[in-house]
Amino acid sequence: MELATLLSEAMGEEADVTLIDKGDSFVFGYSKFDVMFGGATLEAVRLPYRSFARPGVRLVQETITAIDPEARRVTTDQGVHSADFLVIALGTDFDIAATPGLAEHGHEFYSVPGANRLREVLPGFSKGPAIVGICGFPYKCPPAPSECALTLHHYLTERGVRDQCEITLVSPLSSPMPASADLSRALMEAFEAAGIRVLLSRTVMALEADRGTAVLDDGTELPCALFLGVPKHQAPEVVIDSGLTEGGWIPIDLSSMETSVPNVYAIGDVAKTGLPKAGSFAESQARAVASSILAKTRGGVPSPNTGTGSCLVEFGDGRLGWADLDFLTGPSLKSVYHAPSFEGRTHKEEFGTVRTARWFGR
Ligand SMILES: Cc1cc2nc3c(=O)[nH]c(=O)nc-3n(C[C@H](O)[C@H](O)[C@H](O)COP(=O)(O)OP(=O)(O)OC[C@H]3O[C@@H](n4cnc5c(N)ncnc54)[C@H](O)[C@@H]3O)c2cc1C
Repeated sequence: MELATLLSEAMGEEADVTLIDKGDSFVFGYSKFDVMFGGATLEAVRLPYRSFARPGVRLVQETITAIDPEARRVTTDQGVHSADFLVIALGTDFDIAATPGLAEHGHEFYSVPGANRLREVLPGFSKGPAIVGICGFPYKCPPAPSECALTLHHYLTERGVRDQCEITLVSPLSSPMPASADLSRALMEAFEAAGIRVLLSRTVMALEADRGTAVLDDGTELPCALFLGVPKHQAPEVVIDSGLTEGGWIPIDLSSMETSVPNVYAIGDVAKTGLPKAGSFAESQARAVASSILAKTRGGVPSPNTGTGSCLVEFGDGRLGWADLDFLTGPSLKSVYHAPSFEGRTHKEEFGTVRTARWFGR
């Protein structure tokens, strides 16, 4: 949406962009917490694509079934689209089966349907051990599991059942948010204050129904009455079948986001960048692609990918902290820390309203 908006702004009707999505609406990643903890209905957070109207952009609801990078052609359930430039931004799929027992005995909160199902499940949980666990790496939005654990703590406290429950966070990362030591420290302090146990550098491998446990990669078994999981991520099958992936994701030139095939780009979670998989980084990549396409069609020097993004972190009690990250404009990562505060909320509200207005005219 950001890339289509940028091209439309630059070229108007001449942009001739076809934006293909199998879904009919957009949901901000973080809205899943509102849905699962009962703060908002799915209907309230859905932004229907029909309100995305931009000169020179045609949005079609079709499912891509094949990608031919060399021909810059995609086949969908309704036809074939060929283009001068092809930008692959199909995000990630989830490999639920990679974690035995997850489908039958656990819950994932990373998809919209998963978060929506949890809305019915969570009110029934009032006793025993809960685990927020990550089942593979890389996964998108590195701080989201920490946000989930803290929000669960406050949700159970408000219901008056927190002292009957234990919460454990299991993460393959070495700290809650490796890109920001300050945010990681603030999160560790919040976990301690909330009585949340944190097991770092560990991954959940399976859920054992018979023993009522979650099995970690170091062999540890943790008792588990409620499992809120981040499933193993993988590129969508259609992307893997295109032959563009390497080690599961699409390698790109980090500066232009172009793949090894000329005029074929990949942005967002599906691209192999080594940077966090998050919406705000997908946006800075979109700016680089827009600039590259405009330079190729109109001349000029393209602006490189800045690798910038803002990682917003809910502390569950209404406070919000964040880090403005810049991976690529200098010799090393620059990270500007904004400590958690109630005032910080306005930053997140602004993040949402600016994009909702920009993309959906609301
Ligand atoms: C709980 C949670 C909280 C998050 N919080 C934040 C946050 O605060 N800030 C932040 O920056 N990021 C956050 N994220 C991460 C963010 O949502 C993603 O990184 C971002 O959406 C990635 O954008 P993308 O365009 O790569 O993929 P997506 O947003 O997943 O878009 C991919 C699109 O491709 C479509 N698609 C897939 N396959 C096909 C096909 N075969 N045919 C047609 N269409 C197809 C899908 O329908 C989808 O609309 C969060 C994620 C989660 C799960």
